[in-house]
Amino acid sequence: MDLNARIYVAGHRGLVGSALLRDLQRRGFRNLLVRTHHELDLTDRQATEGFFRTEKPEYVFLAAAKVGGIVANDSYPADFIRDNLAIQTHVIHAAWQTGVRRLMFLGSSCIYPRLAPQPMKENCLLTGPLEPTNRAYALAKIAGIEMCWSYNRQHGTQYLSVMPTNLYGPGDNYHPQNSHVIPALLRKFHEAKVRGDAEVPVWGTGTPRREFLYSEDMADACVHLMSLDDAKFNPLLGSNESLTGRFEPPLVNIGVGEDVTIRELAELVQGVTGFQGGIAFDTSKPDGTPRKLLDVSLAASAGWKARTTLQEGLQRAYRDFIDNEQ
Ligand code: GDP
Repeated sequence: MDLNARIYVAGHRGLVGSALLRDLQRRGFRNLLVRTHHELDLTDRQATEGFFRTEKPEYVFLAAAKVGGIVANDSYPADFIRDNLAIQTHVIHAAWQTGVRRLMFLGSSCIYPRLAPQPMKENCLLTGPLEPTNRAYALAKIAGIEMCWSYNRQHGTQYLSVMPTNLYGPGDNYHPQNSHVIPALLRKFHEAKVRGDAEVPVWGTGTPRREFLYSEDMADACVHLMSLDDAKFNPLLGSNESLTGRFEPPLVNIGVGEDVTIRELAELVQGVTGFQGGIAFDTSKPDGTPRKLLDVSLAASAGWKARTTLQEGLQRAYRDFIDNEQ
């Protein structure tokens, strides 16, 4: 991508989209295209196609999606499957119609089977049943991967999917009940410190293991992969199984390759927020999946590695919380 390339970041107000925009600006890209949800509704096919015809992006980061935690996913599955299928169908098709050079489709590691062997490799896609609470979202994302694959096969496009592990970072959703564990704990420990509470309740037993990636590392990975030359990029686009006999979707996991227990995470957050009291595990709340860790060897072979340690990332996320969220 040269610095004058026309780059569309779809979803630039989200956790990854906003990090992507900052990353591209920092690197000096001059022609960045963005639209708020209000300005362009990607579930509207005509509006989406009109935008692509007028603006003619050359590169697209598709980070726009309807996302939410377990409660939202469980309560509004129809909205999740409908909106995500519509957004990705319209953007991918409009990209093909208007000759976009490369497209990157962002998803999440919940596309993999619930009981996939750990760490999870890209080719464990479609090998078993999904986690039921977010199946509607996950199936939409799997359809998006298949769409990238199909357009590559039928039309010779360069559409790649990237699947991050659990993300956190500036601009996260810090809602105490509906957010993911890191923003929830940052809020809980901070407020407990301010109130002078003796203990912070942490859900579950503290034994589940999770891998956490800082949103700016995810953005760095996306720009790194998008900028690879064809010789390095094209092998990531997978292979046509009917010819090679191998199941290789156009899919790259993005993670750190290491996980921590929820107890270890809670202790780190305790340190970062400076809370002096204790931690109380609330075992009436669910643990969820025992372990979720990505195999990141494919990203490593493409020359990318996460840079931000969990400690550093938590410090920066805590600063963001203090500056913007109270
Ligand atoms: P998951 O990776 O899909 O399970 O998503 P979460 O980020 O919501 O939860 C990760 C783990 O953190 C689970 O074992 C939760 O029970 C645990 N956890 C501990 N305290 C909290 C909290 O306050 N909020 C959330 N969301 N999870 C918590």
